[in-house]
Amino acid sequence: RYSTAAALEDPIKPPVSVEYDKLLINGQFVDAASGKTFPTLDPRTGEVIAHVAEGDAEDINRAVAAARKAFDEGPWPRMTAYERSKIMLRFADLVEKHNDEIAALETWDNGKPYEQSANVEIPMFVRIFRYYAGWADKIHGLTIRADGPHHVQTLHEPIGVAGQIIPWNFPLLIFAWKVGPALACGNTIVLKTAEQTPLSALLVSKLFLEAGLPSGVLNVVSGFGPTVGAALCSHMDVDKLAFTGSTETGKVILELSAKSNLKPVTLELGGKSPFIVCEDADVDKAVELAHSALFFNQGQCCCAGSRTFVHEKIYDEFVEKAKARAMKRTVGDPFKSGTEQGPQIDAGQFKKILKYIRYGTESEAKLETGGDKLGTKGYYIQPTVFSNVKDDMLIAKEEIFGPVQSILKFKDLDEVIRRANNTRYGLAAGVFTQNLDTANTLMRALRAGTVWINCFDVFDATIPFGGYKMSGHGREKGEYSLKNYLQVKAVVTALKNPAW
Ligand code: NAD
Repeated sequence: RYSTAAALEDPIKPPVSVEYDKLLINGQFVDAASGKTFPTLDPRTGEVIAHVAEGDAEDINRAVAAARKAFDEGPWPRMTAYERSKIMLRFADLVEKHNDEIAALETWDNGKPYEQSANVEIPMFVRIFRYYAGWADKIHGLTIRADGPHHVQTLHEPIGVAGQIIPWNFPLLIFAWKVGPALACGNTIVLKTAEQTPLSALLVSKLFLEAGLPSGVLNVVSGFGPTVGAALCSHMDVDKLAFTGSTETGKVILELSAKSNLKPVTLELGGKSPFIVCEDADVDKAVELAHSALFFNQGQCCCAGSRTFVHEKIYDEFVEKAKARAMKRTVGDPFKSGTEQGPQIDAGQFKKILKYIRYGTESEAKLETGGDKLGTKGYYIQPTVFSNVKDDMLIAKEEIFGPVQSILKFKDLDEVIRRANNTRYGLAAGVFTQNLDTANTLMRALRAGTVWINCFDVFDATIPFGGYKMSGHGREKGEYSLKNYLQVKAVVTALKNPAW
């Protein structure tokens, strides 16, 4: 059920206030060098939540200098890994203690349902930090039996100052995916939050200081991409970059690295992930999973199952049920219990999604339900379903990043493999079948960084995540992410007595 327009006009007062709105540089919350601020807005109303210090290149210089000093001279890379891990565990405990307050701030700034923030995302954030705290004292190199009279070993060392740029769709989860492994390995960090969602990172960073993180190890600079982001990517004293966001910005980041000091870059970018429902699938379960694969987080997921391929034998039944499910989706104030879908992040995304919906209605695709905004305030959009979608339509090719499901029909496995792979992206894929051979064939044939079989959006801390093709470089989460933050040093020692 959609909330009535009247209910949306009268947003629930968030049970939290904004206490941290400055930049975090060298362990202090400080104003921007320019003194400038920018407003962060409530997506439910478009009204100002708070004015936040707006960094620029000068603040990046200050933050990088602090991170550099903390790396070159500070205790962080030098203390025992056990000490580092204890600080990370203390931080996880503090976040757990403040779970509801952090969740409320995340929901206020982002618009995602409070129950999702409080019961899913903050607990996952805590789990990720505990997971990487566990890695801190298990990072070690190899001894190698080389040809010749040499003893060879490798040291796995932190890279140095990591520049990290995160988006607005999961402000805290992506913070954890990046900050957790970088700190476990002994690096220091300058992090740039998305301009739409600067608040929660500042609050948790305060808790990190409280947990004992030394000054300068984690610096947080709020602000905009072309100023703060570009200054961070171009900085000669930043040793590594990690970015999550659009493919277009990913290209800019690589270019800025190439034009400065060739710092290595990991990228987690966009997607147009297929969700394939085979003829033997349990239709009711597949409908429910395909629904959440697309609509979760207001459709603002890089790995959203945004091309739902359904076998022709069950197509009509599937479309009917997918439509009924979308019509039942609870859209409303994210602070209201039971809300499944809140507003989109901002006016820009809202307009972009409505434009794609218009492309859909102007094409041969059939609008099954939704197709418009909801209410008069904020950025709410009706859950929208298109059937009869063809591969060459814009809604099937481009990332919409909103609550718009596109259902396509297929006949056989070879055809759906070819069509599913016919995209510049390769982030994820979903497969729904009860046939082991079909699952195995699809699992091997799909060109994507994650294949979920009879499930979707499983984001355990231990599982690597990242993209093939233009969906990115490198993997985050799990053991794989440690590689992003380590240098390998080969140490070769001449042996006097090679017989031993
Ligand atoms: P974006 O890629 O522009 O923003 C992501 C981050 O990059 C933000 O912190 C932003 O400030 C920063 N940034 C922007 N320009 C930069 C630059 N020149 N140098 C350095 N950093 C820069 O994404 P957006 O404009 O917020 O959203 C546009 C589209 O991106 C969305 O519609 C969606 O398709 C996609 N997106 C994907 C993800 C994801 O998780 N992969 C997340 C957010 C957005």
